[in-house]
Order: sequence, then structure tokens, then C-alpha cells
Amino acid sequence: MQEISFANITIDVPSYPVADEKEITVAVLRLDKVHPLISGNKIFKLRYYLEEAKLLGRKKIITFGGAWSNHILATAAACQLADLEATAYIRGEEPVTPSSTLSEARQLGMKLIFLAREEYTRQKRILADETGDAYIIHEGGYGTKGAEGAATIAQHFNPAEYTHICCAAGTGTMTAGLLMSALPAQQIVSISVLKNNVQLEADIQALAASSTGKLTTIHDYHFGGYAKYKPELIHFMNEFYRQTMVPSDFVYTGKLFFAINDLAKNNFFPPGSKLLLVHSGGLQGNASLNKGTLIF
Ligand SMILES: *Cc1c(COP(=O)(O)O)cnc(C)c1O
Repeated sequence: MQEISFANITIDVPSYPVADEKEITVAVLRLDKVHPLISGNKIFKLRYYLEEAKLLGRKKIITFGGAWSNHILATAAACQLADLEATAYIRGEEPVTPSSTLSEARQLGMKLIFLAREEYTRQKRILADETGDAYIIHEGGYGTKGAEGAATIAQHFNPAEYTHICCAAGTGTMTAGLLMSALPAQQIVSISVLKNNVQLEADIQALAASSTGKLTTIHDYHFGGYAKYKPELIHFMNEFYRQTMVPSDFVYTGKLFFAINDLAKNNFFPPGSKLLLVHSGGLQGNASLNKGTLIF
């Protein structure tokens, strides 16, 4: 398998009409370039979990997720590279044709166990307390070690160059990491991709403990909920690609870029703001869309 290459990370400064108009600058941190499968924030979130598993002498990782989960695929790939066994509990009945995400995870040696929704929730609770020779990683890599790992994303840019660090949030673990590594008074703008996740801000603050950065969570750009989308979002993603050559995914980064564009149009960012948008990867999930939906 292809090695993980942090050297591939770039900071792009695409031409961005709304940026010129509103006198702000917009840069994109391309974590999507780290690896085709372990793309984006997941490798950062996983690193200290895997390190701890090894220190404790555990041979096997157990984790949880859905059929198109970036976390599942990233965990499969990272475990193969780290020489750890991997088992994933997948939410929902086993489909007749597995998703490309699950086929790839299997090819990487991950064992998949399909559970109907109620049983899945029950198992998550039971396994969370398990010790033994397995090491449990929460769904989506949620947790303190995940946030500490995500804080190392800041090694790939110079925080002093930006007034606002913007990212998409699922569990909020990456946001917590960015908040932990933020400079005093630096703005962290977190776009929730879930509908009505009222817990998000408290979850992030709990994970980030003593940060001096300023957190804003925004809940208006979920497009109907997790992994839901509308034609307006797809149209924007295609236009954004045409203008910037930056591809995005419809679950996370498409919603982030849409939100930042809309917020900028509505003067959310004062003139002179310097934004860094974290491209957290996730492009493999676009394979769940019909062919031709996206132009990239
Ligand atoms: C998992 C994921 C996120 C969300 O990360 P959290 O730490 O759960 O908030 C954002 N973007 C992409 C592409 C992801 O795969």
C-alpha cells in the first residue's frame, strides 16, 4: 500500500471571488493529499490511539462506523501499516453489494461485523468497557487522544498567519485539536455537518480543556443532516472546483466551503481577515453518489 506522506500537504491560495470582494484572504490546507485512503484528518486523529494500543501491547483494534465511513477505511489502512489487527462493527444490515469503502477496508485486512441499528448501539456500549487484548476506538475517532492527535495538524501551517481557522465538524474531535493548538484569541470556526447537534460546542470544549482560542460553532449548513445533501450543495461543489481546482466531499468539506462562502458574503469575516480552511479529506465517500454528479 502507498505510504502516508505528510510532505504532500500543501497550502493552496485559490482565486476566490468572494475573498477579493470582501477583502479577506482564503487559504486551503490540503490534508486530503496525505493518502488516497487515509486522507485528511483521520490519520491525525488515529495516531495517538494506535500509539497507545502498541504501548499497551494490544494486538487488535476494534472500532465502529457506517458503510461509507472515512474513519473505518482510515483505521483499516492505518492498522495495516502499524501491523495491528482490525475489526469494525458496521451500522446496518450487510448490503448485497458492499460499498467501495467497505470493500477496500476488507482488502486491507479489516474484519467487518454488520449489526442492525439497535444491536449496533448496544454493542458500542458493551465494547466501550472491554479491555482484554483489544483496543477500542470510538466511532469517528472521538476522544481526547483523537483531539491531541488533531492538534498536530497545526505542525503543517503557521498559525500566526491566520485570524480564523475553519473546519467541518462531525464529532468535533478535529475542531477540539485545532482549538488546542490555536493562538490566544484566534478564531476557530466549526461548521457542524449534523442537524441539531446541540451538544457539539460542549463536546469540543470538554475535549480541548484549556484552550485560549475562540470557538464558534455554526449549525446552519447541514443540508438536512449527516450525509444528506441538496442540488444547491452539489452545484456549489462543482462551481468551487471550477474556480479553485479544489475537490471537496459532500459530507464534510463541501458543506464547509459552502458555509464559508455564504458567511463571507454576509460579512461574517471583517475585512482583513485571513482564513485557513482545513480540507479534511473524505473524497472517497463521493463514490456513493451517482456517476456524473460531480465533475471531478
Ligand atoms: C471525520 C471527518 C470530519 C469530522 O471530524 P470530527 O473530528 O469527527 O469532527 C471532517 N472532515 C472529514 C473529511 C472527515 O472524514
